[in-house]
Amino acid sequence: MQIINPGPEDYHIHSINYSDGLMTIEEIVQYAGKIGMEKIVITDHSQATNDKSGFAGKTYRSLIRRWKNVHNEVQVSFGIEGDLLNEDGEICDHIQGKKSDFLILSAHKSVYQSNPNTINQAYLKALERHHTKIAFLGHPCIRDFADYLDIEALTKNANQYNIPLEVNGANLLNNKTNKDNLRRMLTLADIIYVNSDAHVLCELKTAREGAFKFLKEEGFLK
Ligand SMILES: [Zn+2]
Ligand SMILES: [Zn+2]
Repeated sequence: MQIINPGPEDYHIHSINYSDGLMTIEEIVQYAGKIGMEKIVITDHSQATNDKSGFAGKTYRSLIRRWKNVHNEVQVSFGIEGDLLNEDGEICDHIQGKKSDFLILSAHKSVYQSNPNTINQAYLKALERHHTKIAFLGHPCIRDFADYLDIEALTKNANQYNIPLEVNGANLLNNKTNKDNLRRMLTLADIIYVNSDAHVLCELKTAREGAFKFLKEEGFLK
């Protein structure tokens, strides 16, 4: 198993500007510099989640093209946490109609339109249809779908497309992970990301650290 980002790099963070984080993009970047991060990707929820939940909509997404890091040397880019929408494998991959080169694919119970027991087919179809544009699968071991998810089949399928799977720090920290599924995933996965999925500033540090601690304690880190 290869970890893409064993160093100070985080590829899953939410802001208040474009979804449901508590902190602004400027605060994220300043704190990332303070704790020694070298690279971060701010990946707010797609329009599907934002519409469903009534999250931020007042800031134009087009502004990110004008944005520059004036605080420090952290390399910052903007991705999107896309949504798996239904059993046909349809996804939402934009914010305000704007897409990104860096797309996470995640399943969220509040946005998934089909019966949760169709989740395996949904992932299968989505990977078949969209694998060329998916950077990684976000929190595949989330509790919400654990009753129905065949994590071994999903992991093998992701491996076939060379798509990494995520160890999600915030979900581990906040007891939203099915740890048995996570152990099964880690046993089989070829490539993984270890990210914070921070929604509050402190999680940039604590959630990543917690995820690495889990990997170490469970014997997945050499
Ligand atoms: Zn998510
Ligand atoms: Zn997220």
